[in-house]
Amino acid sequence: MSNKLSRRSFFTKTLAAGAAGLTLPHFLSAGQRSGSKVQRSTSKVHRFELADLPYSSDALEPVISREIMELHHGKHHAGYVNNLNNALESVGRPGGDLGAIISDLSQLPPQILTRVRQNGGGALNHTLFWDVMDPNGGGEPAGSLARAIALRWGRFEDFQKVFSQMAASVFGSGWAWLSVDRSGRLFVSKTANQDSPLMRPYIAEVGIPILGIDVWEHAYYLQYENRRAEYIERWWDVVDWANVGQRYEAALKGAVIADSLKV
Ligand code: MN
Repeated sequence: MSNKLSRRSFFTKTLAAGAAGLTLPHFLSAGQRSGSKVQRSTSKVHRFELADLPYSSDALEPVISREIMELHHGKHHAGYVNNLNNALESVGRPGGDLGAIISDLSQLPPQILTRVRQNGGGALNHTLFWDVMDPNGGGEPAGSLARAIALRWGRFEDFQKVFSQMAASVFGSGWAWLSVDRSGRLFVSKTANQDSPLMRPYIAEVGIPILGIDVWEHAYYLQYENRRAEYIERWWDVVDWANVGQRYEAALKGAVIADSLKV
């Protein structure tokens, strides 16, 4: 277990699995999330706060430059969080649990649905993205995740090829994901813009994401210019498989890791 992982407190919620098996997570309400770093501001309405990167901004060099990380986290991610807060505040809606909001967008007032889909998705997706990378990453998964990948794709390199091709095939801005579906199976998918595999019913392939790569140009262009395939190829060297393995174990129980919901 990496230092990053051991510093973290993981909090999972296990669903009561019915006869039909596992279901998608019901997320905890804000009041129950005692481990959350989400703080209340002085205003009445809860505002999400941007969490620090789990490592220094130059820690992922040479794979991802400090300049990209500072802009990506400090400007792009911060912007999503701010816009999300403004959208929720405009209707006087408390923030609560972001995972719950993203998983049930249809419950939102219609006038903020698109803004929350875009900016809430952006807030949540980037939190996962920072978390599944680590300066000491790379290599291959171990344990149950390794076995599940082998069952689904055979060799690890074959899985990597499928995932990399999915990421390369995103037209315009979006993400590629490794997720766990409601029957516990792994699948690789892509989403446009800041959509998340959690966004039922707006997403065809719904599941709990455990690994994701941001292929918006802001994620790589300053360093790799138009060479997205090179960015994807090198990105494998910073994937934190211990973290992804934790997410897999949690997702199998219909659970999420709280860090993936923190912004
Ligand atoms: Mn991004």
